[in-house]
Amino acid sequence: MHHYLRHFPVAVAFAGLLGAASAFAAPQANAPASAPAQAIAPASAPAIAPAIAPATAPASGPATGATTAVRGFHVAESDYRRHIETLASDAFEGRKPGSAGEARTLDYIEGEFRRLGLKPANGDSYRQPVPLVEITAATDAKLTISGAGASAGQSLELAYGPDILLWTKRVQMQSAVTGSELVFVGHGVVAPEYGWNDYAGVDMKGKTALILINDPGFATADATLFKGRSLTYYGRWTYKFEEAARQGAAGAIIIHDTAGAAYGWDVVQTSWSGPQLDAASPDGNAGRAALEGWMAGENGTKVLAMAGQDLAKLRIQASQRGFKALPLGINATGGVRNLIRRANSANLAAVLPGTERPGEYVVFMAHWDHLGKAMSFAGGGGDTIFNGAVDNATGVAGILAIAAALKDTKPERSVLFLAVTAEESGLLGSYYYGNNPLVSHARTAAAFNIDALHPLGRTRDVTVVGYGASSLEDELQVFATQQGRVLRPDPVPERGYFFRSDHFNLAKHGVPALYIKEGADLLEGGVERAEAIDREFNATRYHKPGDEYSPTWDVKGSIEDLELLYLMGLQQANSAAWPQWYAGSEFRAIRERSAAERVR
Ligand SMILES: [Zn+2]
Repeated sequence: MHHYLRHFPVAVAFAGLLGAASAFAAPQANAPASAPAQAIAPASAPAIAPAIAPATAPASGPATGATTAVRGFHVAESDYRRHIETLASDAFEGRKPGSAGEARTLDYIEGEFRRLGLKPANGDSYRQPVPLVEITAATDAKLTISGAGASAGQSLELAYGPDILLWTKRVQMQSAVTGSELVFVGHGVVAPEYGWNDYAGVDMKGKTALILINDPGFATADATLFKGRSLTYYGRWTYKFEEAARQGAAGAIIIHDTAGAAYGWDVVQTSWSGPQLDAASPDGNAGRAALEGWMAGENGTKVLAMAGQDLAKLRIQASQRGFKALPLGINATGGVRNLIRRANSANLAAVLPGTERPGEYVVFMAHWDHLGKAMSFAGGGGDTIFNGAVDNATGVAGILAIAAALKDTKPERSVLFLAVTAEESGLLGSYYYGNNPLVSHARTAAAFNIDALHPLGRTRDVTVVGYGASSLEDELQVFATQQGRVLRPDPVPERGYFFRSDHFNLAKHGVPALYIKEGADLLEGGVERAEAIDREFNATRYHKPGDEYSPTWDVKGSIEDLELLYLMGLQQANSAAWPQWYAGSEFRAIRERSAAERVR
């Protein structure tokens, strides 16, 4: 599970660095791991599941008649436990990219792929090398705003840390903007399905966008705008920077507000300073803005006042249909100096070839990486290894156990098993795979992601993160009903968890993706007991050395979840149909554009 914020700070140097470059006189010491290890809040919404009796074996299979759902019949609990116990053992050292634990993890998963008789997906290799780059901005970065008109002759200097955070994704030792005109672009959104374009009629070449976080639906709580309070992709900070780059902006600065971001300025400061790990690209991210950043809210007010504007009023206008970007007539000058280091990690990918349509794919994915070892850990009782049993040995174990269950089923479509790296650093392995796919995205029918299955025991429900996304949910409903369970919509859609795990990087390329999690209504103990277990996990284990495997885990509920994914995968693998994003989905348009590639 990728935590709530930017990413866990990279406090440990890579093994096997290819080289380092720095614009610093003296490179900084690595920052301490000061990240707010903010726990995922327990699901507070009441479970919507009616209390129904657990089902015994269902009378009939799914619509295809190809399978019969018998609880836990296909996916072996012994497989699942064995993989978790191994991957989360101290010998794997917390599975950090660049560590000895990485080598052990890659060897183990590759060995399991081979043992299952799966084919390498990258030529004759199971490995897809993933080049990573770590950029650390010097803390003397700054941005100066020069007035014009009524504010001519005035200047406002914004200091790195308290006032502004700045960086560049360009892999360069220095990057800057000079005399770049500021343009207030509202939420900075281009969303054809909502008929919304904040950049309409403005040429951003050489200019710096000032952008609001989140989206108009959140800002107004108007359910008819975007998805109301539910976070859309357009509301995410990642999207803001990507869109500004597409518009050709030289600079892109988000104006912080605590409600819209869902975290305070202190969190922005700790999350976006220090080393920032990213996937490398052949062009060194030359397409990104020269300067990106966050500005503290009160500085947004000051900067707009220099242009004779009122941020509070602009916030309201920016959430109204027909809002137009506003060139401010004032300029920004500033830049950053970088320390750059490079390293290589790898995704692992294996194929179960399809018998009828081998060029079409169903994907099972899970991230293999975790946080490694701490130098010391207060309160850890001397344990310094982040074993990552739940996060995400369960996911890797899950796709391996599903692979074992599927391997003799002779599916019509091929099935790709993908274990991705560097999720904990910001979904980097899946991002790289998304941009460098080993099989066609257009011909990938569906992707199923497993990220941190909690060992709760059996539940009356199964949680669908990002509920309301695609037709895969209609099919899931059928199988869940056969298990005597109900679908539980994502209880906190405003947090946008759908965008915070690896399937998102396939969804971005149009692939219908499903991300399910354990339910919240235990057969034994109901919602109260599930919440108590969840609270305990977040307080003492999430992203801590205490996330360890125990043979006392009750994984019966997890096996039911895996069984659902197995049945979904088999159904998709034996179908000639293409699942669709629902109308209103951010990902529907790109899927439709690639439809022609699927014609047989
Ligand atoms: Zn995590």
